[in-house]
Amino acid sequence: MSSTKTLRTVALGGSGMTKQLKIGGSSPVSIQTMWKAPLSSTGLDEVARELMVLEQLGCDIVRFAVPDMDSAEALVSLASMTSMPLVADIHFDWRLALKCLDGNVAKIRINPGNIGSRDKVREVVSKAKDKNAAIRIGVNSGSLPADLREKVEAQAAKGSSSALIRAEALVEAASREVGVFEELNFQNYLVSMKASTVEETVLCNEAFASRFDIPLHLGVTEAGPLISGVVKSTLAFSRLLPKGIGSTVRVSLSDSIRNEVIAGREILAECGIRTGGVRIVSCPRCGRNGFDVHGFVSRWETELMSLKKDITVAVMGCVVNGPGEGKHADIGITGAGDKVLIFRRGEIVKTVSVSDGYESADAAFREELNKL
Ligand code: SF4
Repeated sequence: MSSTKTLRTVALGGSGMTKQLKIGGSSPVSIQTMWKAPLSSTGLDEVARELMVLEQLGCDIVRFAVPDMDSAEALVSLASMTSMPLVADIHFDWRLALKCLDGNVAKIRINPGNIGSRDKVREVVSKAKDKNAAIRIGVNSGSLPADLREKVEAQAAKGSSSALIRAEALVEAASREVGVFEELNFQNYLVSMKASTVEETVLCNEAFASRFDIPLHLGVTEAGPLISGVVKSTLAFSRLLPKGIGSTVRVSLSDSIRNEVIAGREILAECGIRTGGVRIVSCPRCGRNGFDVHGFVSRWETELMSLKKDITVAVMGCVVNGPGEGKHADIGITGAGDKVLIFRRGEIVKTVSVSDGYESADAAFREELNKL
């Protein structure tokens, strides 16, 4: 199945923002992540600096939990300190949404069905329109409306396929939220339906995309630690993105925010959706290694992935594969007995003695990298 609908375009942010972003339509698939600590008015400079690092790594949007008025005020302040489009994640309390919309927040994640009376929803929608802010409806398999949860349980008890039933319930839950915005003639919103399994994630997003022209935010919720989270997200996204399903992605990990961004970027690259940037090709290392590949990659990954260069970097432990990979790499580094070789397109350009320590090898590598 492929999504044949032309997606509507959702615009994030008004004139007060230094960077406006579009999701859906013909816009590139964007990468987002979520801040992993409470936001307070102290320490915002440090947060703004980290947002710059995330931006360099390819992040397009960052979401913050807004559980109270203090964090709403802090988010408003932060929005004036960064070019990164910021999203306020709000549950239930429409006053927090109104407070965030006082500032240049690009998007609110809130479900109209949870806000309360229609007047409150109308107030949030009206202010979002005034500020050109978008809204994301986010439904989650763990917090389905009671009637849908009971339906899922009843059907599961009869032995029906639980992934399909839960996926249909997620689509139904999202459809109800969509109905509220459509009644209010508000169209600047997107939808996410998050489940913790790959199958459910794929089924609900496919079903939704076949019925609506609303851009989808893809994510697998509670995906787990680094490895299982990346595996689940990769499997789910790689079944959806090539069909045109998914306009923005978040890889949820019980791991660092930077790794969420790098993982999202790598998935988009491997799906052929985002091109350019630095590709790191590194060997897994084995007993033949004469060079600490793992140490080098961990020291250099953030810096390399932040470069605005379209290059391949090879990091190899020994000469078994080093020079071979080097032929294709714009720059590479490999162990070779008691030496470390720096090469460019297969040609050795520098040799450093292992006994000089990794600092010398790093310095030689940097010198050649700067020439690219
Ligand atoms: S490049 Fe050398 S060290 Fe790395 S995995 Fe291959 S044989 Fe082992």
